[in-house]
Amino acid sequence: MTWTKEDRKRWEAEHPDKLREYERRKAARLRERLGPEGMRALWRAKQAGRRNVMTSAHWAARTANVAAVKYGAPGRLVVADIRALWDRQPACVSCGNGRGVDHIKALALGGTNTPDNLQNLCPPCNRTKWHTERKAVA
Ligand SMILES: [Zn+2]
Repeated sequence: MTWTKEDRKRWEAEHPDKLREYERRKAARLRERLGPEGMRALWRAKQAGRRNVMTSAHWAARTANVAAVKYGAPGRLVVADIRALWDRQPACVSCGNGRGVDHIKALALGGTNTPDNLQNLCPPCNRTKWHTERKAVA
């Protein structure tokens, strides 16, 4: 059976208690997934009327952590680490425009996934740096 929007609305109207339970579980799962920092970011995003609930600091931390696992690099970053970095270095240290997160010593080259190994480097500068580093290794 395929559910149409109308079917769902009818079901929701007939089962308000089940709907509440479903919403409650969905909210609990979200809280568990995002953690307190993430929930605050979500709240702020909602206040700002933004649909994209993931802040770039979240993406940066997550991307760095995924890369660290891939390269077996020690360390794990949290959103606060990224925010602290961007507070310290508000713009790309190379071109002064944009912002991003770069491991000063690349994870692939034995760098650690820790705040002391981070700098603010925008994506284009990051790519340029990486190309140079890769040539040096090869
Ligand atoms: Zn740059």
